[in-house]
Amino acid sequence: MELTEGKYQIQGIDVSAIAKEFGTPVYVYDGKKIVDQLQNLKNAFSENPLKIKFAMKALSNVSILKLLKKFGAGVDAVSIQEAQLAIGAGFENNEIQFTPNSVDFSEIVEGVELGLTVNLDNLTMLEKFGKKFGSSYPCGLRLNPHIMAGGNYKISTGHGNSKFGISVFQLPDVMRLVEQYKIVVNGLHIHTGSEITETDVYLKMAEILFGVARDFPALKFIDFGSGFKVAYKDGDHITNIYDLGLRLGKNFKEFYHSYGKQLELWIEPGKYLVSEAGYLVVNVNVVKATPSVTFAGVDSGLNHLIRPMMYDAYHEIVNISNLTGDQKIYTVVGNICETDTLGADRKLNEVREGDLLAIKNAGAYGYSMASNYNSRFRPAEVLVWNGKAQLIRKRDTLDDLLRNQVVIEI
Ligand SMILES: *Cc1c(COP(=O)(O)O)cnc(C)c1O
Repeated sequence: MELTEGKYQIQGIDVSAIAKEFGTPVYVYDGKKIVDQLQNLKNAFSENPLKIKFAMKALSNVSILKLLKKFGAGVDAVSIQEAQLAIGAGFENNEIQFTPNSVDFSEIVEGVELGLTVNLDNLTMLEKFGKKFGSSYPCGLRLNPHIMAGGNYKISTGHGNSKFGISVFQLPDVMRLVEQYKIVVNGLHIHTGSEITETDVYLKMAEILFGVARDFPALKFIDFGSGFKVAYKDGDHITNIYDLGLRLGKNFKEFYHSYGKQLELWIEPGKYLVSEAGYLVVNVNVVKATPSVTFAGVDSGLNHLIRPMMYDAYHEIVNISNLTGDQKIYTVVGNICETDTLGADRKLNEVREGDLLAIKNAGAYGYSMASNYNSRFRPAEVLVWNGKAQLIRKRDTLDDLLRNQVVIEI
């Protein structure tokens, strides 16, 4: 979103006009920004055979998946349903990495039947996998390196008490199963959490993986996961992906030379690709001044964007209807009967009832975590691509709220 000629625009289209055409609340995505971010990653890792697996749990709209597919990304799916959506969007089955956690073994079997790249994260699953498939179908292993990384405890997944991955301390057990059942391990994977800003953390993880990798002669790829952080506000620390691409890439090359064959370097960004491309545009229903706080109450809330309440995430908010009004301090809240603050104590150009606010960084974990709480409709989604704003998901209707309800005689 750029401020041009007194209007907030995406690819030359007035964001207020998009809100008027499709109604509010509405998620608006800038397709060009998504493609640019994808290209940044390709440039940063250009020295290596790179595969980018979009972590689609961040944003699972099929039109967005098609866009990413068109520009060469694969997919990381965490449920069989995500994999099915990705197949529907046109991804080849083997371009889809399947990284589930705590699923029944039958779901992993489904992944094999679909021909996905299956990534196991538990010893009991590895044993079941070995018993059923032996050497007939390869699998990857998700490892837990016991590194505390990432923005906070809730989003860090690679520390010792995390439920994710097979502990590197349990490698002897892994090796025993691999030998017993002749399991073909074709990839090693680490994803230690979200919002990692230090290249050194990745390099440390890489060292651990390289150490382990020598024991697996059939590898095709090593997957370094994600956690690439983008800016949510001015001055935020971000992951310098060029530094990462350079240094990790160099170590990776050295490793595969000593390993004896070229391996693919995989990463699986979610947030990095789509966070900044998305805006949740909302209408101000009420301005409510109390003796201590002035609230701007909008037609959305934690049902549509849960990150501020769930993770204390900071999402910048802009009044796109009033570019010149005096700045005042507002607390922007939703219309849900629950404390649902979207942004506290924000300096905004004077907010009037009927103004439109744009909430930034709403592309990742926005719509995909939205719910119908309070029996409200989930928003519409609009993609701006090739200079055109197009609806890519309709707003819910009452039928959606009733769809699976079975009304019985009382
Ligand atoms: C969520 C997730 C990602 C993406 O994390 P981001 O912080 O959004 O980049 C990558 N890999 C796996 C396995 C995940 O669960």
